[in-house]
Amino acid sequence: MSVVENILEQVKKRNPGEVEFHQAVEEVLQSLAPVIEKHPEYAKLGLVERFVEPERVIMFRVPWVDDAGQVQVNRGFRVQFNSAIGPYKGGLRFHPSVYLGIIKFLGFEQILKNSLTGLPIGGGKGGSDFDPKGKTDGEVMRFCQSFMTELYRHIGQDLDVPAGDIGVGAREIGFMFGQYKRIKNQYEGGVLTGKGLSYGGSLARTQATGFGLIYFVREMLAAAGTDYKNKTVVISGAGNVAIYACEKAQEYGAKVIAMCDSAGYIVDEDGIKLDTVKQIKEVERKRISEYIKYHPTAKYVAGQNGIWSVKCDVALPCATQNDISIENAKQLVANGVLALGEGANMPCTNEAIEYFLEKKVLVAPAKAANAGGVATSALEMSQNSMRLSWTFEEVNEKLDGIMVNIFKAAQSAAKEYGFEGNYVAGANIAGFLKVAEAMMAHGVI
Ligand code: NDP
Repeated sequence: MSVVENILEQVKKRNPGEVEFHQAVEEVLQSLAPVIEKHPEYAKLGLVERFVEPERVIMFRVPWVDDAGQVQVNRGFRVQFNSAIGPYKGGLRFHPSVYLGIIKFLGFEQILKNSLTGLPIGGGKGGSDFDPKGKTDGEVMRFCQSFMTELYRHIGQDLDVPAGDIGVGAREIGFMFGQYKRIKNQYEGGVLTGKGLSYGGSLARTQATGFGLIYFVREMLAAAGTDYKNKTVVISGAGNVAIYACEKAQEYGAKVIAMCDSAGYIVDEDGIKLDTVKQIKEVERKRISEYIKYHPTAKYVAGQNGIWSVKCDVALPCATQNDISIENAKQLVANGVLALGEGANMPCTNEAIEYFLEKKVLVAPAKAANAGGVATSALEMSQNSMRLSWTFEEVNEKLDGIMVNIFKAAQSAAKEYGFEGNYVAGANIAGFLKVAEAMMAHGVI
């Protein structure tokens, strides 16, 4: 058994049932094999074994009272995975599917993503199996307050800085920040990112993940001698990442023809009218099926996943993990897809990614391509520390520069380790090398 297979075996044995975590580790370890071979010193130091084991895992009870006066109990998580290059940093996800395996996969990927940004942030992730859908503002507030009443003792601006993710937007961050401030009796602006603009948030943070994805894919298309002009684009999701990916892709002259939510997808061959999507999803918090009421020539299809049967040049999965299966990948390739940009975390199964690479589809991996969100969160932390605010243009320009640098880092690491043109392996290797160097410098901890 090779070193990598051995470590993977241990991970599976030690973390039974955590299938998403196994999947994320397997994907990364596959790319690291040549790195491990080149650095025999890692073996004695147990460096990779330490890398796949979180520094700390916190699980807690979150009781709250619903509008009917009934007590509800959810479970809260925070996984502080790796602090070799900076304080733990990563979002909070509120979704009924959340359990330890999901938070661990996200925290693990976050280490490499944060490293790739070039900024001093370690990897962590958290969340709860609470479902904000269909809850009143009062219920969401009481849940967030209860969640923070436990979480506050584990976080801090130099220790661990959470942000948003699925189900956690400006409203939830606001409630959690308020409760943190109240309990700590101090104004620690840099303890959470994704804050509102009136209390320390950064301009362009809302747009950052989606915009950053489009910047990364722009670089990848340019390296292949092409661009967005007149390309057809399909985007899964209609949340924060999807909406701003759509906005920037349209600005670059691409034609976005389909988007979805968890209930179904819309196809508008004339091009998605993003203002309508924003009104439905951001303002009214309704289903995307409403779109056809405003644009009757568009089509709505109920059910998950069908969106990948829509023919496109560029596919941007921006909804959730394992959205694209091997069957979806085959369909996309058969329809002539040119490039895939992962806006969501781990949106493709490992089999699907391998198939895309084999068929020479350009793949922008999540760790690199969606790092614009956390990078801009780190810029928010910088502004909080300096007690000043940059303009939208200043933040956006820095974000663009960061995404270009991430692309270059992935491109050159891939070349150096014999994976030329494979940005999946390149991103894993470039992200890992920096963390490994810092871990070596810190001794055995
Ligand atoms: P949101 O909660 O804003 O939006 C998620 C969207 O995906 C919603 O439209 C949701 O539909 C849809 N969705 C969820 N599950 C499914 C499903 N099974 N099938 C189809 N659609 C689904 O989350 P974000 O946009 O913030 O996050 C999306 C992804 O991007 C996640 O993987 C997240 O980890 C990742 N990400 C987010 C960052 C950020 O800054 N926000 C940063 C980096 C990565 P519905 O409304 O019906 O639930």
